[in-house]
Amino acid sequence: MDYTVIIGLEVHVQLQTNTKLFCGCSTKFNPDEPNTQTCPVCLGLPGALPVLNREAFELGMKTGLAINCEIPSFTKWDRKQYYYPDLPKAYQISQYDLPMSQNGWLEIEINSETREKKKIGIIRAHLEEDAGKNSHDESGRGQDSKVDLNRCGTPLVEIVSEPDLRSAQEARTYLEELKLLLTYIDVSDCNMQEGSLRCDANVNLHVHQETGESIPTPIVEIKNLNSFRGVEQAIEYEIQRQWKAWQETGLSLKEVPKETRGWDADRGITLEQRGKEDAADYRYFPDPDLAPVKVTDADRERILEKLCERPAERRARLEERYQLSSYDAAVIIDQGIDFADYFEAVAESSQNGKQASNWITQDVLRELKERELEIAEFPIKPDVLSAILQKVKANEITNNSARIVFQELLNNSKDAPRAEQIQHIVEEKGLGLVSDTGELDAIIQAVVDKNAKAVADFQSGKQAAVGALIGQVMREIKGADPKMVRQLLIEKMS
Ligand SMILES: [Zn+2]
Repeated sequence: MDYTVIIGLEVHVQLQTNTKLFCGCSTKFNPDEPNTQTCPVCLGLPGALPVLNREAFELGMKTGLAINCEIPSFTKWDRKQYYYPDLPKAYQISQYDLPMSQNGWLEIEINSETREKKKIGIIRAHLEEDAGKNSHDESGRGQDSKVDLNRCGTPLVEIVSEPDLRSAQEARTYLEELKLLLTYIDVSDCNMQEGSLRCDANVNLHVHQETGESIPTPIVEIKNLNSFRGVEQAIEYEIQRQWKAWQETGLSLKEVPKETRGWDADRGITLEQRGKEDAADYRYFPDPDLAPVKVTDADRERILEKLCERPAERRARLEERYQLSSYDAAVIIDQGIDFADYFEAVAESSQNGKQASNWITQDVLRELKERELEIAEFPIKPDVLSAILQKVKANEITNNSARIVFQELLNNSKDAPRAEQIQHIVEEKGLGLVSDTGELDAIIQAVVDKNAKAVADFQSGKQAAVGALIGQVMREIKGADPKMVRQLLIEKMS
């Protein structure tokens, strides 16, 4: 297939404020009580005057700075006119020609084997208010359509990427990295089920000709994708559809206007929607009710100080500080900020990052998945896990015994397990590493005496025979170090 895929994403993120962008109404997700969180301002009733929510503006700045954008000193508000039942005032307050941030980038990893990275350009990130929500009875039983205006006026930041993405997988990775970043810097919960993160994808192909030139196929905007899987599948479908359309019609970008399509997740296809208005149809004009916003260097500095370490920086720091592989660092960071904090707490107090990483990316992660828990709900707190790991490091128990302690704490503690319980379990289960070689020696001698055949097999060259004997010794002394047992057995039989 001789074409290049061209994708740009427009991502809408709901900012985490208590009140709306231009009024004091609550932004709580509340579909059970529709139309209870509205006022004349967010409904645009005559005479009502909007007032900018400073916190929303600052979260917008934080977002812009986190994606490496410039924050211009002057920004203004525009009315975007369109009529739709979920927008009672018939215009949306947005930003048109002077957005509050622009010219940024976000780096993503495009190859998990080579760890190759790529910077995706960001054209702009601007603030705007959300519209309400329509729901239509699609049962065919003639129920009414409903309109819930609770969401009207909720602050959104719209992040528009350059068309730098080259595959459905890259688009998904970009969206995942963006979501991770926005939750790390604490500007949004990015809850996709509740619509806090939504995405439109612009997709077309550049079909390469034998002459060396390439012809762009018509651009399609796929609207309102609200899951990572949806983004990937919808783009994948659209690539195939456009390639087929090109082969059948040969129509290019110049001959067909931009088309808007929706993703039908149940049928796995994109469907044509109403024609896309371009900027002229929206009749943008500056909002006369809202003063423009001036941003000073001091404002930028103040917000920069509030910006925490970003996921990409933290991955690099974990690799460096704890000597982790880039794979392990990515696994830890990609689980979210609480998980990364948990890891660092254990790594710091146990003074062994590699060991902490092994346990946390394997044992802890497995238990979280099986129990369907978030790390904040995990019963074993960092100090307790660290205490277990320190016992291994001090050669008091083996790694296998540590796993038994870990399981015991998880399964048999009614309250949150405490570090003091560890020693009790070690004693109760006889897991203490046997340092008394005399005791171990006696048991090994007894096992050798009982197993004349295995000993003879070993002596005639069958190395595997030693395995069964190790098992027998370990049953007698649980806390023994299998490596040491193996060595002592071999010495005894040789
Ligand atoms: Zn309101």
